[in-house]
Amino acid sequence: MKKLLIFILNVLLFCSFLTPATAVVGAEESQTSPILEFVLTSNEKSALTVENNDVITISFAILRTDSNEDYAINAFQNYVHYDLSFFEFVEGSIVCNDTGSAVAQHLNSITYGEIIQCQNMATTYNSSFVFCTFQLRVIATSGSGTVYNDEFFAFDSNFQQIAVTRKNFTATICLHENLTKVNEQAPTCTENGWETYYHCADCGLLFDANNEYVIDEIPYILGVHKTTDEFVTDNDGHWYACENCNEKIDYVEHTLSKATCVSKAKCEVCGLSVGEIDPHNHKNTRIDNYVITWFFGDGYSGDVYCLDCNQTVKTGEIVSKFNINAWPWWILLISIPIFPVIIIVWIIFF
Ligand SMILES: [Zn+2]
Ligand SMILES: [Zn+2]
Ligand SMILES: [Zn+2]
Ligand SMILES: [Zn+2]
Repeated sequence: MKKLLIFILNVLLFCSFLTPATAVVGAEESQTSPILEFVLTSNEKSALTVENNDVITISFAILRTDSNEDYAINAFQNYVHYDLSFFEFVEGSIVCNDTGSAVAQHLNSITYGEIIQCQNMATTYNSSFVFCTFQLRVIATSGSGTVYNDEFFAFDSNFQQIAVTRKNFTATICLHENLTKVNEQAPTCTENGWETYYHCADCGLLFDANNEYVIDEIPYILGVHKTTDEFVTDNDGHWYACENCNEKIDYVEHTLSKATCVSKAKCEVCGLSVGEIDPHNHKNTRIDNYVITWFFGDGYSGDVYCLDCNQTVKTGEIVSKFNINAWPWWILLISIPIFPVIIIVWIIFF
């Protein structure tokens, strides 16, 4: 009996070991640890050329490098340092995009010196999350300065520390010692020209013709045709001429009205008359010598006279009084069915 009790106890103990072990394996399978990269950039670049007194905006992004999926972390920390001889923090410039219980603040810590402290607990992020941005002013007049991630770590949702790599940001002040003067180039009809400017081979910055100011882009002079307001025409179309080349600018075919007995077809846009007059197209006419047709005499359809070319363009013809088409006959024919009605009315009432 005692042996049996010991056996049952052993079985129960064995089971109690087995159950949590299985559960832990299951939890690990359901969520693999993300691999993260802490990235510092400005203008989406990890290196920039700057000038003294420039204010640059730095982004601190947490990127997941092993997958595009959202992930949960139990905690992370990053202390962002910057070269104090090169940069100065712009007070109040931190914008934190994590709306949870996150910390993103400018600190002067005894342990870490002047830092931007970034941390959060138990958060889910998407695979490319800009945790915060802040601004630094360039106080140096030469050399370069770095903004870098330090004292950073992260734990996954199973409280396991996870792999984090980092990308830092570097700003460099260029002394523009490798300047090239680019001489003015006149534009052609089809190619742009430019005004004189200077180009720094080291940092790529551009300067104006007097090498005084930085300019955003090459001062292009647009290449365009030199046209006048006057149309040039041929029988088919009209266009603008270029003083410098033979290209027909904005060429279109004429929009022609119809030719008449006195005028040629005319383009409604450029006014050019094209082709020949049309001797059969008389636009403004009147009827002469019309005679009404009546039961007792023949009529005359009238002569068509053109007011533009002053000619009788169609001679009329005699309309016989017996012609069924003459209008008095039509009145008579329409009246015939009414006669019996008139007779019946006459008989009844008179
Ligand atoms: Zn330069
Ligand atoms: Zn041209
Ligand atoms: Zn025309
Ligand atoms: Zn006419």
